[in-house]
Amino acid sequence: MTPQAMTHQGWKLVLFGPPGAGKGTQAQLLKEHLQVAHVSSGDLFRHHLSNGTELGELARGYMNQGILVPDDVTIGMVLDRIGPMSPDEGFLLDGFPRNVKQAQALNDALAESDRRIDRVIHIKVADAELIRRLSNRYICRVCQKPFAGDAATGAVPARCDDCPDGGDIYQRADDTAAAVANRIAVYHQETAPVLDFYQAHGLLSDIAGEGPVESVNQAALASLQPNLAKAFRPAAF
Ligand SMILES: [Zn+2]
Repeated sequence: MTPQAMTHQGWKLVLFGPPGAGKGTQAQLLKEHLQVAHVSSGDLFRHHLSNGTELGELARGYMNQGILVPDDVTIGMVLDRIGPMSPDEGFLLDGFPRNVKQAQALNDALAESDRRIDRVIHIKVADAELIRRLSNRYICRVCQKPFAGDAATGAVPARCDDCPDGGDIYQRADDTAAAVANRIAVYHQETAPVLDFYQAHGLLSDIAGEGPVESVNQAALASLQPNLAKAFRPAAF
């Protein structure tokens, strides 16, 4: 067990980060360092859908009608996963809560078993950098090989060097700078109220997410100061 795992045993964490911030990589590292369960809402959805559970079928019904899956269903999936955990077991929530209603429901459910969120880690990266990272993806139309634009100039090779006829290299509509900027704007709009909610509870740690993977991970771990968190934990939370 790492020293961090010992001092943070059983911690309940929430991880936030915009698209392109490296949240998936950091979630994996935190899970390993802290020995907590990684509870990803995307994974839970896939699990319930592919196993045809009651919650999965409920979600599928809304999705088939093109309706946003209601909070109660999403909350149900998360509580179904963390509800039965022992109070000593730590977890890292990823992709949940998405709004204040979900955050409040999470608090209430945890409080019932005398548990609470210990810290919320928010990986911050400037929008311009996110757009640069996410809109720098191209693929070959023939063999689908991915290409990145030149780091300095943004220049992209015209032809694929990996297939016989040198396929045309293009950018998918989802990856254009405009599409990426829109995804980031939606993220900010969605998460700002949730981040405010946790900030008001003194639980929010902003982490600079622009450096190398390992230094971002160190910053995330350094932000978890047990004594501070325990001392400032509001009684009502
Ligand atoms: Zn190719």
